[in-house]
Amino acid sequence: MKHRFLFLPLLGIYFASSAQQAPCGILPQAIDHAKIDQQLQGASKSQATLVVPVVFHIVWNTAVQNIHDSMIFQQLAIMNNDFQRKNADTVNTPSAFQAASGGMDIVFCLAQRTPSGQATNGILRVQTSNASFASPTSYSVPDPVKRTNMNGSDSWDPTKYLNIWICNLTGSTAYSAPPGNFMPQDDGVVCHYMHTGKTYNYPYGLGRSIVHEIGHFFCLKHIWGDDSGACTGTDWIGDTPNQANFSTNCPTFPKTDACTGTSPGVMFMNYMDYSEDGCRNMFSKGQVAYMNSCINTFHTGYLSSNGCVPVGIAEKAAADEVEIVAQNGMLKVSAKQTVISELRLYNSLGQMLRAQNGNAAKSLEIPVRGLPPGVCIVEVLLEGNSFTGIRKKVLITE
Ligand SMILES: [Zn+2]
Repeated sequence: MKHRFLFLPLLGIYFASSAQQAPCGILPQAIDHAKIDQQLQGASKSQATLVVPVVFHIVWNTAVQNIHDSMIFQQLAIMNNDFQRKNADTVNTPSAFQAASGGMDIVFCLAQRTPSGQATNGILRVQTSNASFASPTSYSVPDPVKRTNMNGSDSWDPTKYLNIWICNLTGSTAYSAPPGNFMPQDDGVVCHYMHTGKTYNYPYGLGRSIVHEIGHFFCLKHIWGDDSGACTGTDWIGDTPNQANFSTNCPTFPKTDACTGTSPGVMFMNYMDYSEDGCRNMFSKGQVAYMNSCINTFHTGYLSSNGCVPVGIAEKAAADEVEIVAQNGMLKVSAKQTVISELRLYNSLGQMLRAQNGNAAKSLEIPVRGLPPGVCIVEVLLEGNSFTGIRKKVLITE
């Protein structure tokens, strides 16, 4: 509850700026729950960390809307901390809900290459003549902030990148929708510039509007099931208590209501509620499993996206940093910029044939005489490089 005290002096700013805005502008949405559930049932827990390339489109009209890179870096850190459950305020999750809370094996990174393979820092800045952009009233018409020809900024292939637009938004603090609701090129998240990063604009000034919206984008519904006080709706998640309606501010724990009348009550500290940012600190394990299943069903393009691979590291290194010459039954490998830590030789099936310590030499020879003729892969590990190694094809002849 320490955070609430921190925000009190800022109440005036909030009420002056965005008191009329709904926290989340999501419309009634379709989610193919059966499909997600089917994937969920068959899910195995062994996949690698999911890397999601993110591109921020800052669509600005006045200078104040053109927020600084540091706010974007902050927002990205908040996304990573909250989704991985590495946020500092996990200690505020009531002990009754600690066991149900969970983190995802996910990393959001700023895109390093554009869809056409150019280098980028993942932050686009587009000046617009539009003073503001309205939250959508329909999913079936183009969403202006996401369209260059409507004074917005075209998405990058939404199957490979998570697009987040930052603008002067009216009607809500932020919005998104599960995949399959917006027109395909409009998939992504939109957020008001005053609620991106740590702006301390109460009650949504700690960057959790975007966390909430990515939750929707990963197929989560609001935790109260959007049934306006009835107890008949569902969020499809087994470990979130049935909740009558959204929460506001920061309720005192335990909060019980018409749908869950006994302690520990409802999970108002869940990111998919409307409590203030300083009050929300968890996804449930059920939500985490559901989001993973959603990604493996509808966002499968992320699994093979190279959006976070810097342009030309391997290619450039191969061309500029290493020279390989085959002569007299030997491969001579020379590093131009640094020294070699190890050489490895693989056949075309990826089986390692030979390895040799580089002994930090600038130049090294590895024998290839006696190897079966054909294509080999030489992998050169250089000192001081963070990537695995430079790989080059070499044709071994008799
Ligand atoms: Zn929402």
